[in-house]
Amino acid sequence: MASHLVGSSYGAINRIGARLSIRTSGLFTRTFATSTSANVYKNMNPPRTEEMPWAEVHEKGVQRFFWNELIRGMLVVTGHIFKEPATINYPFEKGPLSPRFRGEHALRRYPSGEERCIACKLCEAVCPAQAITIEAEERPDGSRRTTRYDIDMTKCIYCGLCQEACPVDAIVEGPNFEFSTETREELLYNKDKLLTNGDRWEAEISSNIEADHLYR
Ligand code: SF4
Ligand code: SF4
Repeated sequence: MASHLVGSSYGAINRIGARLSIRTSGLFTRTFATSTSANVYKNMNPPRTEEMPWAEVHEKGVQRFFWNELIRGMLVVTGHIFKEPATINYPFEKGPLSPRFRGEHALRRYPSGEERCIACKLCEAVCPAQAITIEAEERPDGSRRTTRYDIDMTKCIYCGLCQEACPVDAIVEGPNFEFSTETREELLYNKDKLLTNGDRWEAEISSNIEADHLYR
């Protein structure tokens, strides 16, 4: 008797599910058919015309009647409440950066304060965006140094070729990624700006170079 009752309620659920499915699919069919877009655009997902198999009707009916997907979604959300959040509270928290991160450019100095760049212009030659402009002259002591070192950061594609080409690790891309500006002109860096960046980020830059020395 009990099994008969369970069987008949299951059949009733199936029939309700089937009716729901058929009504829903009919609703979408009519909406699309009366739409003016139907004659203009090709429908990549045309409404189903063939009979839905009973197994599918049964599955969809059960899903809709018992709100399976809703309950499963709620369980996923509830499960995530107890997990460590994947988001961070930027800008107060920052994620880890690779030592190879290619951020804002900087010109480095030796510990003595002397600038490293020897004005060989390899970085200027290798730059695919032609973002670097260098002018140089000889000093009274015979050394060669730049008189102008500009980088147009609006052209730069952050490929890192300039730092790869530099024989003395003078031009580098540091870890700073927070240098957005309000005007384009602020992104035209000159030698003073680049040397200031180098002084500001020297500790991080030298530790990144040290961490990556096996691959350089
Ligand atoms: S990172 Fe690439 S595009 Fe930018 S200045 Fe260096 S070489 Fe040029
Ligand atoms: S930054 Fe390096 S590659 Fe560029 S001119 Fe100076 S020494 Fe040469």
